Amino acid sequence: MEPRPPNRPPTAPPAVSQSDSQSRLDATAWEQILSARLERPVQVRFGRARTQPVQSVSRPEGVSVRLHEFFAQAPPEIADALAAWLRAGRRARNACRRLDAWIDERLAALPPPRPRAPQIEPAGRVHDLTGLAAPLWTAEFADDFFMRPQPHLTWGRRTRSRARRSLHLGSFTPDQDVVRVHSVLDHESVPAWFVTFLLFHEILHAAVDPRGHGPRFRKRERAYADYDRAVSWQRTHFGRLLRRARSL
Ligand SMILES: [Zn+2]
Repeated sequence: MEPRPPNRPPTAPPAVSQSDSQSRLDATAWEQILSARLERPVQVRFGRARTQPVQSVSRPEGVSVRLHEFFAQAPPEIADALAAWLRAGRRARNACRRLDAWIDERLAALPPPRPRAPQIEPAGRVHDLTGLAAPLWTAEFADDFFMRPQPHLTWGRRTRSRARRSLHLGSFTPDQDVVRVHSVLDHESVPAWFVTFLLFHEILHAAVDPRGHGPRFRKRERAYADYDRAVSWQRTHFGRLLRRARSL
């Protein structure tokens, strides 16, 4: 190794602007700040959840905190407020207020979320929604979808349901114009006519009442040929469907 020439000037500090070095708090920096304030190990991860920009779970071994990415730009007083909130919860009134106001401001400054294109998969393992719906379009909904497109039909994703007592066998999402049928019904033990009834029910939401079961909705639903046996089939088999949805 060569000795350094004595007259060489000291190395310049890395070219990071003042504001950058002050305002970027990465996950590790947050962990150091929060662990020191809480006097417990804190694990920090960044995410993009807008509905809950701060989530924390306290465990015996420490606290895990998930922060929206915009916390990387948090000023020191927000770091203080977050630490106070994690320590005392809602009892830290001023800290909460400051934190809420700052979060609202940052959320408002985010670009609008890109709507996720819904996954449309009408062909199931057992039942094909497109085929089942074909007679509905001509018989039941012949006058409903003249001026506007028919809603998309899809099976829901095969995810385990955690609900103990409730199970939504179908849904209609107006802003996506999508009818979803729960994947628990894509099974040999579920008669095709029952799946068709479910499609009918959800398409009826698209046709007359996207959010509820108003009088016009009820009237047409009761007039559907399979209404009575569908209601009774659902009543008889609901427990079994619920158990299967929980074990998907
Ligand atoms: Zn409904």
